[in-house]
Amino acid sequence: MINLHNKSHCCGCSACANVCPKRCITMVSDNEGFLYPKVDTAECVDCGLCENVCPIINKPQSSYRTKAFGCYNKDDEVRLNSSSGGVFCVLCKYIVEVKKGVVFGAEFDDDFNVHHKYAETMEDCKKFRGSKYVQSIIGESYKEAKRFLDDGRFVLFTGTPCQIAGLHSYLKKPYDRLYTQDIACHSVPSPKIWDEYKKYISKGRKIKNICFRDKKTGWESPLFLVDFDNDTSYKCKYFENEFIRGFVNGLYSRPSCYECKFSSIDRCSDITLADFWGVSSFYPELNDKKGTSLVLVHSKKGVELFKYAKMYTHGKRVNLKKSVWYNSAVCSSVPKNPNRENFYLSKEAFNIRLVENEYKFENDLKEYNYTFIEKLSLKIKSKLTNKYDG
Ligand SMILES: Cc1cc2nc3c(=O)[nH]c(=O)nc-3n(C[C@H](O)[C@H](O)[C@H](O)COP(=O)(O)OP(=O)(O)OC[C@H]3O[C@@H](n4cnc5c(N)ncnc54)[C@H](O)[C@@H]3O)c2cc1C
Ligand code: SF4
Ligand code: SF4
Ligand code: SF4
Repeated sequence: MINLHNKSHCCGCSACANVCPKRCITMVSDNEGFLYPKVDTAECVDCGLCENVCPIINKPQSSYRTKAFGCYNKDDEVRLNSSSGGVFCVLCKYIVEVKKGVVFGAEFDDDFNVHHKYAETMEDCKKFRGSKYVQSIIGESYKEAKRFLDDGRFVLFTGTPCQIAGLHSYLKKPYDRLYTQDIACHSVPSPKIWDEYKKYISKGRKIKNICFRDKKTGWESPLFLVDFDNDTSYKCKYFENEFIRGFVNGLYSRPSCYECKFSSIDRCSDITLADFWGVSSFYPELNDKKGTSLVLVHSKKGVELFKYAKMYTHGKRVNLKKSVWYNSAVCSSVPKNPNRENFYLSKEAFNIRLVENEYKFENDLKEYNYTFIEKLSLKIKSKLTNKYDG
């Protein structure tokens, strides 16, 4: 049975809870607000399935040679409402309209908590659009995806790299009709801190809409936006927002994110989507300031997905090493902030004062620019061996 001695050895994917035949594993929130499995030992029959499917214990492998593309959606409305180049929506189009299948992704619930759900229409897929910088709760999504696959439906499952690894481990065998898309993943903040931040920002008002990265002011200078039901709103430059500054500086990420087992160029997903940071340095013709996606294709199904995406996007194949040069999240973990423990020990709601005034972040986003991104990326360069040329 799953027996966690070290919290960094659990990414919270819920594969163990989904697989347990006795349903004796529940995902329980710890004091930091992250979910971990709790086993009802009286019900456990020691079948070992939970350990077998844990992607940290048995990481799914990949053998394909990854190819990189830089591109963006030709539809400006879709791109404006997506965090990067809007490629995710084209993948949904392929699965929903061509394959009559189902898409799984992360959406807000009525209280703006983030959960994994599925959608069967393009209209419903819109709720997955846009990055939500908080850990999405998987719930029973792996079981639901398996039911669709066993019924012969096509499924596109999207999420963080650890969630995709968790799904593959849970399913145990390959399914011809399963497609998976993950993201470059900086890390995930705690749902509890997100909840406290929502309370702090709303000051009693009811939240109507949240956009972590509103791109009306440009992809490289977005806004963090919250609309309330009394027609007021909160608006702040993305890189100056307290929640985002704490997130980017690794202040309240999940412990497993500081030692991420899934951040590498080679992955078990079919396709990876990311922001094409640094695109202006290598491929300025691909940057019109509205958002450019970096697409990493890892499998034959990834080639199939991207072949379709080419019809609806503008872009080209790019050099793999150059494509990730400025994107540390593709193949390295976020450094743990030295103030992390203090932050969680503090009793103040969201500890806003600490984030605002007391913590001196090494990477002060108020001075955000490509030099900052380059600094963050220095550590990945040693990982870009000759294997990734071309
Ligand atoms: C927590 C997080 C950290 C990220 N870190 C980086 C990074 O460091 N560098 C980088 O280049 N890109 C990062 N991304 C990815 C990037 O922000 C875009 O999501 C990606 O490029 C896809 O953009 P798009 O325009 O094609 O589609 P979009 O419409 O912007 O993205 C939608 C996709 O994001 C998924 N998604 C949204 N929120 C979550 C969530 N909380 N958990 C799981 N999946 C989610 C949806 O399921 C869907 O697959 C991160 C995304 C998230 C959610
Ligand atoms: S060993 Fe089997 S029964 Fe026990 S918790 Fe794990 S999956 Fe459930
Ligand atoms: S990583 Fe996933 S499968 Fe492993 S213990 Fe944590 S929740 Fe369970
Ligand atoms: S950084 Fe790694 S462990 Fe953390 S959410 Fe992303 S993929 Fe999972």
